[in-house]
Amino acid sequence: MSARKRGYSANIFETLAKAPPSTETFGSSLWHAEAPPAPETGPIVGDMDVDVAVVGGGFLGASTALHLAESGVDVALIEADEAGFGASGRNTGFVVPNLLTGLDPRVMKNALGPDTGDRLCLMLGEAGDLVFDLIEKHGIDCRSSQSGWIQPLHSPEKRAWLEDRVAQWQALGRPVKALSRDEAVAEIGSDGYHGAFLDPTGGHLNPLAYVRGLTAAAIRNGAKVFSSSRATEMSRDGGKWLLRIEGGGTVRADRVLLTTNVSGQGLSKPAEGTQFPITLFQVATPPLDPELRKSVLPNNRCSADTRKDLIAFRWTPDNRIVTGGLLASPFGSAERARTHHLRRLNEILPQLPKLEAEYAWQGRLGAARDFLPRLMDIGDGAWSAIACNGRGMAMTTGLGKALARWLSGGSNEQLPVSITKPDPVALPGLAPLAFSVWLPLNRWKDKRDVARARGIKLKS
Ligand SMILES: Cc1cc2nc3c(=O)[nH]c(=O)nc-3n(C[C@H](O)[C@H](O)[C@H](O)COP(=O)(O)OP(=O)(O)OC[C@H]3O[C@@H](n4cnc5c(N)ncnc54)[C@H](O)[C@@H]3O)c2cc1C
Repeated sequence: MSARKRGYSANIFETLAKAPPSTETFGSSLWHAEAPPAPETGPIVGDMDVDVAVVGGGFLGASTALHLAESGVDVALIEADEAGFGASGRNTGFVVPNLLTGLDPRVMKNALGPDTGDRLCLMLGEAGDLVFDLIEKHGIDCRSSQSGWIQPLHSPEKRAWLEDRVAQWQALGRPVKALSRDEAVAEIGSDGYHGAFLDPTGGHLNPLAYVRGLTAAAIRNGAKVFSSSRATEMSRDGGKWLLRIEGGGTVRADRVLLTTNVSGQGLSKPAEGTQFPITLFQVATPPLDPELRKSVLPNNRCSADTRKDLIAFRWTPDNRIVTGGLLASPFGSAERARTHHLRRLNEILPQLPKLEAEYAWQGRLGAARDFLPRLMDIGDGAWSAIACNGRGMAMTTGLGKALARWLSGGSNEQLPVSITKPDPVALPGLAPLAFSVWLPLNRWKDKRDVARARGIKLKS
């Protein structure tokens, strides 16, 4: 079938960026198998009118709609498929009140200015607690554990960076800590680490169950929530926004917030083009011998190390290990992830038996060129917000709350992001190909760091 017939653009770059290879695996994840059912919602039928329309039912849309509804705003949450169908229902379930390595408070303040930068750091630092508070407040059954997020150092050369990162977050009042080599080895159960960053306010959960729980809470608080309702077009009509929904319904709204991540399908092309897509693969083992938990992540933290091609893993309450990450080829598949990512874990954790995957799935995240969140003005009371960037669960929950406060009458000066115009990246569709070059190079650098730490010289 041609790309055009499948509904994708015939342009190869747009096709690479948009073709959703991830869609088929939504139902293949551990999260899908174990989450309580989605709240009962259906498509938009006929015409409706609301104050605010939020398009996209991931963490960001659900958190915004929930907090808007709690403030009494008449809000509709419009999802093309079902709550959590995008990155939110498919990730590793790490709650990380932090951004990627290198994006520390100083960098955020430099990028956004001291005031907005400070607000973003404070919001993000508190976002782990916010996630677990919302779970408790709304009785969300998502097998959560606020047992901390840990970032072990794969190289002793990262030690100075660690001390600096900890000092920056501690200056903001965050209860983070630098762990010694011995502490890191005991925390992870691997002797290949040289210290670690620990944030005890992080943790883990079933992300699909969490986003379904946020959505159910939004409904209980009065939000109008719709699934199977893809917004295909937005235009101005009599001083309001008119959203056309696949299947024939319409929504008229005073204000519109797009939270569609990388899959908006052309609702606002400049805003969508501001991020490039990255596909990640996930696997979950069958339940393992619970005795293994005594030597591997004994404190039930979730761990993502400092490698560029990072090794990230966690336990689930039923003693499975969940891990995953990138694959070098743009045509990588969840099936290939079954062996690749588990083999890496077996290498750093020799006490584990040979791991096998019971579940394998994939998802797609969107990243801006500086990996920072955006609130983009797309005109006349419509905005597009992105906060994914790979570490999005805490960030999107926190940003959703801040956006709801702002849409309920807050001032621009309270926002933890600047309002900007879309700044599209050149040829976002080339990202998968760029990763095919970036990844082997950076895997080699990771290997070199590890070899150097062991006193071995690698041939280039
Ligand atoms: C495999 C993987 C692992 C990850 N691991 C972690 C992790 O452990 N911790 C962490 O913090 N982050 C992680 N992330 C990132 C995190 O999942 C994202 O940051 C977060 O889910 C983004 O949420 P969102 O609401 O912005 O977008 P999404 O969850 O992608 O939601 C966008 C929604 O918009 C809907 N939509 C799109 N277009 C339309 C339209 N036209 N009309 C109506 N609806 C539309 C989509 O169907 C989708 O449901 C991971 C991401 C992936 C892919």
